[in-house]
Amino acid sequence: MSIISRIFKYKCPRCGKGDIYTQPFNIKEPLAMPEKCEVCDLPFLPQPGYYYGAMFMSYIVTGWLYLAIIGFCMLIMKMSVEQSFGILILFVILTYFKTARLARALWLNVMVKHDKKWDVIK
Ligand SMILES: [Zn+2]
Repeated sequence: MSIISRIFKYKCPRCGKGDIYTQPFNIKEPLAMPEKCEVCDLPFLPQPGYYYGAMFMSYIVTGWLYLAIIGFCMLIMKMSVEQSFGILILFVILTYFKTARLARALWLNVMVKHDKKWDVIK
């Protein structure tokens, strides 16, 4: 499983098998995570504020994506500024949870190295 696949499937960065988020999805707690990986025991909440960096990851990714959406609406579709931002706001509302969860998964995969032999060491 590649790093991109682990990020989009919300899988543990070390083993690639355990789920990062508690299942099933609960809209009241969209970022609820187990304390550690159910497969390899990697701690998902190692210290308070660990996911602070995920906010910057989210900012970088969404900033460029939102700029592209506005550019597409205004330059290609010839929409007005108000229409373009209306579409952007709708897009942001529809993808909010996905973006927040992806940012944490991206941060975790950047910070923790994948180990193909984790089960051999154990
Ligand atoms: Zn794991």
